[in-house]
Amino acid sequence: MAGHEERAVASSRAALSLSLSLIAVTALVVATACGRADAPTPTSTATPTPTATPTATSTATPTPTADASATTSAAVLDAGPPSLASADAGLTTSPDPFGRARTAPRTYCSGVAGKHVTDRDLRTSFVSGDDLLAIVNRSPTGQLAPDWAPTDLVDLRTGQSASATDCEKVQCLRKEAAGALGELLGEMKKRGFAGKVESAFRGYGTQCGTFLRWAGKGGFCEATEQSALPGHSQHQLGTTVDLFSEEWAKDERGVFREGFGCTPAGKFLQEHAIELGFVMPYPIHPDDRHPKQSCVVRWDIPININPKTGYRFEHWHIRYVGKEPASRFAKALAASGLGTPNEITVEQWLRAEKGLVSGPGVPPDAELPVCDGCNCGACSTLSAPGENACDKKGGALHLDEHGRPLPASNAPQILAAHAASAKKWKGHIVEVKLAVPDGVATQPPVVGPDGAGYVTGSSFERLSPYPESPARAFPPISGAWVVAIEPVPNEGGVAWPWRAAISATIVGQTYDRANVLLPARPGNVTLKVPIPDAPSKVRVVLMEGGVAKGEPLTVELR
Ligand SMILES: [Zn+2]
Repeated sequence: MAGHEERAVASSRAALSLSLSLIAVTALVVATACGRADAPTPTSTATPTPTATPTATSTATPTPTADASATTSAAVLDAGPPSLASADAGLTTSPDPFGRARTAPRTYCSGVAGKHVTDRDLRTSFVSGDDLLAIVNRSPTGQLAPDWAPTDLVDLRTGQSASATDCEKVQCLRKEAAGALGELLGEMKKRGFAGKVESAFRGYGTQCGTFLRWAGKGGFCEATEQSALPGHSQHQLGTTVDLFSEEWAKDERGVFREGFGCTPAGKFLQEHAIELGFVMPYPIHPDDRHPKQSCVVRWDIPININPKTGYRFEHWHIRYVGKEPASRFAKALAASGLGTPNEITVEQWLRAEKGLVSGPGVPPDAELPVCDGCNCGACSTLSAPGENACDKKGGALHLDEHGRPLPASNAPQILAAHAASAKKWKGHIVEVKLAVPDGVATQPPVVGPDGAGYVTGSSFERLSPYPESPARAFPPISGAWVVAIEPVPNEGGVAWPWRAAISATIVGQTYDRANVLLPARPGNVTLKVPIPDAPSKVRVVLMEGGVAKGEPLTVELR
């Protein structure tokens, strides 16, 4: 984890089985990736004992036939523009896309379970920490087992083997990662900046203690914005360090202050750590980079969370994946379009490596976190509908036992649609009233008079999430419901060009910078969709996965 000033949002993604179509989904939450190395000892309420290692039992009973080799729904593919549909070619699906679910025999961080995080979310893990390419993120599917710790840890000072318990007191990494770190520190030293490891392996128990300390100070919701939940920190892998220079660490303001990425040592890490097998999982989102200095964020962005990672940038948090895999990531990163909205993250690359870009829908950019700081605009859960704290608020994305989004039991409905206006919007506003049952999923763009809107020439295929940010596409994600509007007649060449998430505008401040499966806002919802001032008449419809459902309503605008 990082310092308190770094909030992080983790994004999680899951593939979803909706009737015949498999869907990939994503969700985000706000929390910190690194957790504080200087955190006081965990309080007595938590009794994490990673070394006790009770054998977690596998209680999940995967049913591969339910969704393996899911038949592509032609309707879903056909609905999107051809360029988007072609993105699905060659994708594979797996009955256990995130790994076999295991349920811990008990809750190891009991202070965390309860109101906001369900017992099931805390006890279920999918990820094997032994895998150097394990996907550990804020999603329920990106959790390490509470009783898992590496078995080949070494003390960074001596290089000698150490137990996970020993490593609560000294800095440790897995043997191979420690060797690579030694090389990296040597290279740094050659260039005149001695490295300073702030935090290395952190066990589940340490993370639990850190989280509970934050919760004790400011409550659970604030804690989720300051610390990763236990099991969701990459430091538990034993391959991840928070690395600074000694020079940077001298300042009494603490190492996690802004600007390390712009120092010579920080720049060296960004450019060369990858050559020694270390990747940087938490970059600044391309939209958020300062136009003149890519090592710092723009001054005017609304929320400094990267929706593709769920975290603020952490230029010191580096993770060892091996030299050869790291070079594959470097190539994939360069090919994705550096600096553009399509620039991939480490997590997107890992998902591609594992064939997790699954399903006939377009894969999402990220997955949603277990808990998003209790804003409940973007959280996901393995618990049943009604059991999660967010169900009654902004909505939660419910995942099945394989980690895939559950389809909604009922479809949303349009109750009414009419013309409206807003002071801040020069074009038209189409106001749409909806009845939205629990468990419905949606996707960006989230639009509204106070956020993103459609100007002349823009569409869901090309929209800027906020002023001066480059336009990007929001291709349909299977299972996602959106409101769709088109002019009558529609001569623009794009069917239903103006699409809107069933979500609150504030959610868009973070999530419009990615294309993720989000929980739709449940209940009676009114959406105000800003569209250009040109048409005199529009049609309004609901779409699921890019396919129009039901009869459109016609609205006269003038
Ligand atoms: Zn870290």
